[in-house]
Amino acid sequence: NPLQGAQFVLAAHRISQLPADQGAEVAFAGRSNAGKSSALNALTGHRGLARTSKTPGRTQQMVAFSLPPLPPVAGEAPFDARLIDLPGYGYAKVPEDLRAHWKTEIDAYLHQRRSLRGVVLIADIRHPLKEFDRMMLDFCFATALPCHLLLTKADKLSRSQAMQTVAAMRRQFAAEERQATVQGFSSSAPTGVDEARARVLELLRQ
Ligand code: GDP
Repeated sequence: NPLQGAQFVLAAHRISQLPADQGAEVAFAGRSNAGKSSALNALTGHRGLARTSKTPGRTQQMVAFSLPPLPPVAGEAPFDARLIDLPGYGYAKVPEDLRAHWKTEIDAYLHQRRSLRGVVLIADIRHPLKEFDRMMLDFCFATALPCHLLLTKADKLSRSQAMQTVAAMRRQFAAEERQATVQGFSSSAPTGVDEARARVLELLRQ
């Protein structure tokens, strides 16, 4: 699992402070409290990599994690790979000016970042596609970036309810012709971790 070698590099308030724009990276986005830090920790196998918090709106920086150079595909040289944890702000208690700042930064990041290969959008399976999530999907759609939707906290629903939600979301994306994939996920069960890891690696390698 190459994601297991993830290491903290830096935390940034602006995209200009991020590591050099080379190699490949995948960004993680989600409303505050969606379960993004827990998902990052589950995917990388580091319990304390991303700071989880019961206080919504605490993560207000972009955090870069480096991965070990990915093994070459079909004769290509290994390349630098990163995961970028975007701040989650779609929560009522986040002040309006901070929300506006991050909306601008995230929009700019998604449009300008050349090494960005795709976005993993994390949403609570019980409340998928709130305004923040729709905005992220629209950003991805506008920039033709692949998006993988992780519907997390699947352990809070029955198996069949979770499967129905995932299927409904797939139908919706198909109807909207969005370049997005969907899966159920749980950091605590855990469920769907291998599938999500495989998708992240696929995004990094494309
Ligand atoms: P973030 O703000 O998106 O980074 O969210 P966190 O990862 O800090 O999680 C927010 C809250 O949801 C915490 O209380 C977590 O324990 C809880 N949580 C996260 N993932 C899961 C999950 O898969 N299942 C359940 N039941 N709770 C989760």
